[in-house]
Amino acid sequence: RSDAEKFQFQAEVSRLMDIIINSLYSNKDIFLRELISNASDALDKIRFLSLTDKEILGEGNNTKLEMQIKLDKDKKILSIRDRGIGMTKEDLIKNLGTIAKSGTSAFVEKMQSSGDLNLIGQFGVGFYSVYLVADYVEVISKHNNDKQYVWESKADGAFAISEDTWNEPLGRGTEIRLHLREEAGEYLDQSKLKDLVKTYSEFINFPIHLWASKEVDVEAPADDESGDEDESSESITSEKGEEDADKSEDEDEDEKTPKTKTVKETTYEWELLNNVKAIWLRNPKEVTDEEYTKFYHSLAKDFGEEKPMTWNHFTAEGDVEFKAVLFVPPKAPHNLYESYYNTKRSNLKLYVRRVFISDEFDELLPKYLNFLKGLVDSDTLPLNVSREMLQQHSSLKTIKKKLIGKALGMIRRISEEDPEESTHKDKKDVEKSAEDDVKKGQYTKFWNNFGKSIKLGIIEDATNRNRLAKLLRFETTKSDGKLTSLDQYISRMKSDQKDILYITGTSKEQLEKSPFLERLKKKNYEVIFFTDPIDEYLMQYLIDYEDKKFQNVSKEGLELGKDSKDKDLKESFKDLTKWWKGALAKDNVDNVKVSNLLDNTPCVVVASKYSWSANMERIRQSQTL
Ligand code: ADP
Ligand code: MG
Repeated sequence: RSDAEKFQFQAEVSRLMDIIINSLYSNKDIFLRELISNASDALDKIRFLSLTDKEILGEGNNTKLEMQIKLDKDKKILSIRDRGIGMTKEDLIKNLGTIAKSGTSAFVEKMQSSGDLNLIGQFGVGFYSVYLVADYVEVISKHNNDKQYVWESKADGAFAISEDTWNEPLGRGTEIRLHLREEAGEYLDQSKLKDLVKTYSEFINFPIHLWASKEVDVEAPADDESGDEDESSESITSEKGEEDADKSEDEDEDEKTPKTKTVKETTYEWELLNNVKAIWLRNPKEVTDEEYTKFYHSLAKDFGEEKPMTWNHFTAEGDVEFKAVLFVPPKAPHNLYESYYNTKRSNLKLYVRRVFISDEFDELLPKYLNFLKGLVDSDTLPLNVSREMLQQHSSLKTIKKKLIGKALGMIRRISEEDPEESTHKDKKDVEKSAEDDVKKGQYTKFWNNFGKSIKLGIIEDATNRNRLAKLLRFETTKSDGKLTSLDQYISRMKSDQKDILYITGTSKEQLEKSPFLERLKKKNYEVIFFTDPIDEYLMQYLIDYEDKKFQNVSKEGLELGKDSKDKDLKESFKDLTKWWKGALAKDNVDNVKVSNLLDNTPCVVVASKYSWSANMERIRQSQTL
């Protein structure tokens, strides 16, 4: 159109579209899931606003919070419309083309390496998947605060926006029209589409209707040519009604030569494709594992094959009532620990009495548990207040506390059910079962994906520090390459050993050679290896566990069982240590001592008790460089 305003896609978006258009990815169905998910988000938004502003929904059809899908076989158009919040002109420009989301380039990179488009929704660029099946897309949208606009693009680097003066007014909401590519004709097949919508809308909380055709038998006059396939049901039934009325009058006279015959007619009607009962309202006993898995996939937009590691679906009663489902994902998302302290992110969805409120509610879970996915639906929270007011509601503290408890319990259960873990009880009499095989190694898997979160928790959450410390895993001088826990460590401590011994460094291999370990190994003491940079911070917070103190063996303060020879040695080297202390400038060392820690190495530099360890010095230096 000549009066349309033209825009260029932001460069990364343009690149993304190119890749999608040329993709050989075979599962093109995913575009439908993304469109349904966007429509559902838009409906959630208007419903939320309507809680505090009744007028916003308008009247008539506008009040129906639903989606509608239509197929036009002749023009090869698939259209999906919603009565959601809609987009203003500015929204269309920003959301569909000029502002790249943070996930855009990450997704481009991922696609170039794997070619897998399945996770597109997780990266916040799901809309562009329409170009898997369409070569021309129109987005018609009407927001309460603006006129109706049409966004259109052939994915050739540019898009156009025009004020809509030719389509039917939408009232409010968005209609996406996909002009399907030649090879995507299958999406005009009604039964295929029904199946897809059913699959992808299982957990969508708004009705989805399809303008579905149906073959019906109708009586038509024997020599009447009418009844063309493309007439709508309404007109056909009304005509038929009249015919019937006419017939009954003259039938008696002419019984032997009926004037009607049965013909196939195509009628259309809105067919509801989904059942909108929320899974979390059901009794957990009646929900199958498969249903939870699918629910997880749609909630997390993680459409891989994998099952969540575990989940907990529960109802909290008492002063604050809510239902919740929490999942531990099968693996960490691509950017879990990226700018951890700067990103505001919670992965829980908050509902109040079935109404979606927000998925950016920081107050539900502490940051370190951000890797969990799930939702909370509360009957106690008020519905008709702003998000800001809700955020300060006193019940949130209670909800948070209960959620943390359930989350940590759920993680502990992974370890307890894992036959490779025998942290707490001896499992000698437990029979081996097929179940065991499935659970085997699950905690190691959990630890490899999310161990860092547990460590962040120990640093950040003083209240739950001990429970979190129980979940900690590490290797030691005796663990033989396997992970072990503090409880296991303590059970192996020597009778004369007071402290939990550890050493920090860059790798286990490097630490194995450390002179600090020579004597300890010889004397059969077990020492924990902490080799993650975060461990240095961790150990500033993890002071003790089960009444035992932690002792860094490369720091001052380590005491091994006293040896009678120690005193003599100290005496006979008195002059040497004195000379040495004097020889090293005062600023360089605090003290020079005879040590009983070493075996082959003649001397080592030890960090003082309250200073940074050598490893910490190294970390701090690399951070400032
Ligand atoms: P995401 O849904 O993760 O934000 P998408 O690429 O799917 O990413 O959509 C981009 C944005 O376009 C959405 O955030 C939303 O603002 C807007 N949008 C897409 N579809 C609709 C719709 N049906 N109604 C209103 N806004 C929409
Ligand atoms: Mg989306």
